[in-house]
Amino acid sequence: MRYIASVSFNGDDRSTRHSVLTTARRAAALVNALADEHPDPADVADVLRAYGEPDPIDLTARDIAGMRAAAASLRQVFAAEHADDAAAALNRLLKDHTGPLRLTSHGGGTPWHPHLDHDDNAPWDEWLLASSCMSLAVLVWDRQRPPGRICASTSCQNAFITQGSGPERRYCSRRCATRERVAAHRRSRSAEQPDETA
Ligand SMILES: [Zn+2]
Repeated sequence: MRYIASVSFNGDDRSTRHSVLTTARRAAALVNALADEHPDPADVADVLRAYGEPDPIDLTARDIAGMRAAAASLRQVFAAEHADDAAAALNRLLKDHTGPLRLTSHGGGTPWHPHLDHDDNAPWDEWLLASSCMSLAVLVWDRQRPPGRICASTSCQNAFITQGSGPERRYCSRRCATRERVAAHRRSRSAEQPDETA
């Protein structure tokens, strides 16, 4: 089962685990975990687990290869500068890689939610692409702007989901923002005082 197999019907699970935003954030986290040329399957499984996927999570080398290809395709959506570009990228993926929209409750184990993969037991790569396209498409619909971005730090390049309101972040994290600010400050100082910082 490629969604959350069993989930409490009390508390926050219904509203948070299954939310569009959580699914979109999981998409970004997996795109980042799969950006390595040779990702450790254990690291990818950790991300899945962090977003509620139950054990056992068995990822073969073939699964990882398929998921890496899906993640590379999804990166195009995160790289989109404008809503039009994000929509075009999503439309390409939806046309080529996903099935018709259907609702599933995984046999009553989860709240009803939409899927675009062909089956509840679809392979990991199909599941990744379909579930990510679903949530990212809803975010474009809801906000009329790209659902996420690629971190502006060239040494990072993480995908992240932009917040619903407030000024748009350019960096994936406070860490990246601080590092880039310090680097920019050093550059401007060395431009002013080339001898001292050479
Ligand atoms: Zn970053």
